[in-house]
Amino acid sequence: MAVGSLVVACHAGPDTTPGVSWDLAEHRAGTITAVHYDLALEVPTSLDEPVQGVLTLTVDLRDGADPLVLDFTAPQGSVLGVAAPGGALPYEHVNGHLVIPAAALQRGDNQIEIGFVADDAALNRNAEFLYTLFVPDRASSAFPCFDQPDLKATYRLTLTVPATWAAVANTPAASSDTADGARTIAFGQTQPLSTYLFSFAAGAFQVESANREGRTLRLYHRETDRERVTRNLPAIFDLHAAALAWLEDYTGIPYPFEKFDFVAVPAFQYGGMEHPGAILYRASRLFLDESATQNEFLGRASLIAHETAHMWFGDLVTMAWFDDVWMKEVFANFMAAKIVNPSFPEIRHDLRFYLAHHRSAYAVDRTEGANPIRQELENLIQAGTLYGAIIYQKAPIVMQHLEQLIGAHAMRAGLREYLRTHAFANATWPDLVTILDRRSEEDLEAWSRVWVEEPGRPTVSATLETDGSGGITSLRVTQSDPRGRNLRWNQRFAVVLGYSDTLRSVPVHLSGTSAEGAASGLPAPDYVVAGGDGLGYGLFRLDARSRDYLLDHLPAIDDPVVRAVAWASLWEALLHAELPAAAFVELALRALPQESDEQNVQRILGYLRPAYWRYLLRDERSRIAPRVEALLWEELERAPNTSLKAAYFDGFVATALSPDAVARLAAIWRKEMTIRGLAMSERRYTALAEALAVRSVPDAQEILAAQLERIENPDRRARFEFIMPALSAEPAVRDSLFELLKDAQHRGHEPWVLSAVSALHHPLRARAAEHYIRPSLDLLEEIQRTGDIFFPLRWLNATLDGHSSPAAAATVREFLREHPDYPPRLRGKLLQAADGLFRAAALRE
Ligand SMILES: [Zn+2]
Repeated sequence: MAVGSLVVACHAGPDTTPGVSWDLAEHRAGTITAVHYDLALEVPTSLDEPVQGVLTLTVDLRDGADPLVLDFTAPQGSVLGVAAPGGALPYEHVNGHLVIPAAALQRGDNQIEIGFVADDAALNRNAEFLYTLFVPDRASSAFPCFDQPDLKATYRLTLTVPATWAAVANTPAASSDTADGARTIAFGQTQPLSTYLFSFAAGAFQVESANREGRTLRLYHRETDRERVTRNLPAIFDLHAAALAWLEDYTGIPYPFEKFDFVAVPAFQYGGMEHPGAILYRASRLFLDESATQNEFLGRASLIAHETAHMWFGDLVTMAWFDDVWMKEVFANFMAAKIVNPSFPEIRHDLRFYLAHHRSAYAVDRTEGANPIRQELENLIQAGTLYGAIIYQKAPIVMQHLEQLIGAHAMRAGLREYLRTHAFANATWPDLVTILDRRSEEDLEAWSRVWVEEPGRPTVSATLETDGSGGITSLRVTQSDPRGRNLRWNQRFAVVLGYSDTLRSVPVHLSGTSAEGAASGLPAPDYVVAGGDGLGYGLFRLDARSRDYLLDHLPAIDDPVVRAVAWASLWEALLHAELPAAAFVELALRALPQESDEQNVQRILGYLRPAYWRYLLRDERSRIAPRVEALLWEELERAPNTSLKAAYFDGFVATALSPDAVARLAAIWRKEMTIRGLAMSERRYTALAEALAVRSVPDAQEILAAQLERIENPDRRARFEFIMPALSAEPAVRDSLFELLKDAQHRGHEPWVLSAVSALHHPLRARAAEHYIRPSLDLLEEIQRTGDIFFPLRWLNATLDGHSSPAAAATVREFLREHPDYPPRLRGKLLQAADGLFRAAALRE
């Protein structure tokens, strides 16, 4: 680097390497205060013209000794000018930073005006609408800013958009003027916000509003099916209102922002994003089919509760650095689980919690790529790689343990203090541990070291000893660390002893290597399910006798949570090659007609798919297919309600293999056949057309073309057009789509890309798709750079989930071997995504 450049100063000035390094963030947090962004952006009608802006930045500098480093990752030439009230200022635009030399600044207040061209990447520009998605570090691609969560700032946004567009931002519009075919909206000043939470959306949106408990809620959307809107609106508003009321009560803090709007975005990258006052949702998660499954209804409620909980946990109090991003996610999910309860009085919420968290968390924690909940982060560029099931699913389980450990009352009091103390500011995990530690006798730091700072899970076994007459003399539970670190996970759960006609639950507090359960004198059980209450976390090994017993008798267990844990333990047995997939599928076929809890039905159907496509050998699958299809169809017809019918129908579509079943799919798609009690939506017809195409029915191309004609909504049409080539029977057409996907420009609509990639790699086409695996892995680093936070892992899952062959597994291993210095967190993602493939391939080798 050139000596004397203002970027590389000899003293320890701010770090201007690419991204936002922790050093730069810390330096700025210590020297910069009172940040205000006055931002004017002009959005032209044509997508070919750039969005231009003027930023008036006000900032207080504690000392004038260092250059001021803003983040601005738009390409060179995007800075049009920098000025202070006294005139133009010198600057450099380098490494994604806009650097203004110290000599041009003064100690104390500075006002700096910057003209710029915004990069489109985080503006998600479409012909008829755009929306910002800045988390975790993309605000700096759209405008110059201090892109770190602990420099909270106030914002005043003025947006000029085509005259017919609606616009929504964090605060209400203060004024709106239309002139010369353009509309200029000035939004009110925000509360202090982190850059990743600043947001706006604009476009051809319709607006619905409702009043709930004196508060106006507003929904912006592009749904063209009026009936679909009308049917879903009351629930959408009610769920938000219920979540708001619950959170105000739990936190003791009134909703902290000016207004409450949300936007249903077609093909939104995530389920939702918690911009204060302007939450963005994926439209399909809000507007459900009349024939949605119970999981979809519950999922919508959880998502709404999750994003609403963020208004307090994340938006009001924000992590200081993204290493603690898990904190906002854990509280959002943990609160969501509590919030949703009253809206669904008919469901077992302990079962819901177990099913919604443990399986996904185990899917990461059993792999070589498992990561801890809290991960170090040296540069914000890498923040996207922190996200995943460990943050979203394991952390809430751990939080449930913490609540159990210190008591619900202390937990709530501690969280209230935490929110009050750090309102409109930032806090770290150690800040919260300190607050909670004062309210508890437990050593929370030691607890946190194992559960929060380390990856993995314990292997837990229960051993019974009996006397000559068959009575229990001891019940011993032991844990071990499969990673050889000798960690001990402190937790409480029940060991369930199962008898032909009853269950006994023996509480255990496992903190050291082993613990005794008070079971002496009880008769010896037929089977033992450690962690059977669904509260424990670990690999709960079944002994051989219990496994055999459950294979015969699982459906007869009285308690739905014990059944769910038993299923999970059998699934682990399958993955550990202790149980043939065929036996697992046979049990599923016997269990489904007897399963009385709809949540468990959906879970069993969820296990059935990978067991069927990935773990059965091809011959086994062909042999059993007619029975699977017949059973699913029978249960579909027998199901007493629409949501259960929907679950069976989706299961049938996913597994249909025999010519008879495929012909039935075709007849339904042609509307020659209907299913009593299940209204077919456009979404289901689209899914059918896709299913028929990957099964290479002779008239697949006509079906796809006809389906495209059937779709009226422009956003859904565009999606279907995008993925059609991935469904083609012609390998050359599929190849050309894959070639297109190598260019980031064609990966803008991430949900579309994932649908297309999954179709390319459907198990029925897996062999023909093996040659996409290596280039897909080669793209991974670029995908991490250009895509949004969940995209790298989802890209990998979409690529690998359809595969089970040793050749596919070898391709992944070879890639890992050839890249010994691959970025560790990305390597972790690959190992997570490849775990099922490795296991399936090992069974075949
Ligand atoms: Zn969240």
